[in-house]
Amino acid sequence: ISLGLVGSEMCIRDRSNRCDMNQEAVYQTLLRTTQDAYAGNAEMTGFTPFPDDIVRQAVTPFHSTCCDVFCEDKKLVSQKYPALQDAIRAASDAVHWRQTYKDTDIGDDFMDQFACYCIIGENAPFMSAAIRLFMVYMPPHFYYPWHHHPAEEMYLVVSGNGVFKRKDCPDERLTEDDTSFHQSNQPHAMETLDDPVLCLVAWRDDFETPPVLTPPSDMS
Ligand code: FE
Repeated sequence: ISLGLVGSEMCIRDRSNRCDMNQEAVYQTLLRTTQDAYAGNAEMTGFTPFPDDIVRQAVTPFHSTCCDVFCEDKKLVSQKYPALQDAIRAASDAVHWRQTYKDTDIGDDFMDQFACYCIIGENAPFMSAAIRLFMVYMPPHFYYPWHHHPAEEMYLVVSGNGVFKRKDCPDERLTEDDTSFHQSNQPHAMETLDDPVLCLVAWRDDFETPPVLTPPSDMS
């Protein structure tokens, strides 16, 4: 038995690292604050309504260096969504940090700093038939190269800011409460400057196919 901090709440872990009721509260707070932010943004609800078929499911926690980079970033401050940012961090020990580009040549720096976990979907605490929902964090001075996927996508900036790039569109510097829509298979990329960025990312349709890096030959 050991004691650990999950957010501001103490939780008791047994040898299999299962938490008591407080861990459930962490997940439920994550869902509630996610829904509040999503439902309060007209572009997100216009993209697709927050699902009404959400079920709780078991998640196998998986830790990665990117989790620590995200949790230790003191520059990340949200004026509009502080409860959501806190809830996303509080769930950090109890989620499966994704390694989307593990089998590519994207490099260790990217893998160690690009932080993403699924909130609604596979290996997430919640499931829906309607959407996939992720958190995505990038530290300052970070570049997420051009990539694409068949699912349509909407980003909502929770805190910080960054430059959002979409093929055939002008770059946009987006900050809290701004959104970016990516069409099916439209290449997109992101870059942070002096600040980090934390986003909620929703996928609709065709969400079984993971993203792939866009070959430079497709960008000309
Ligand atoms: Fe994307």
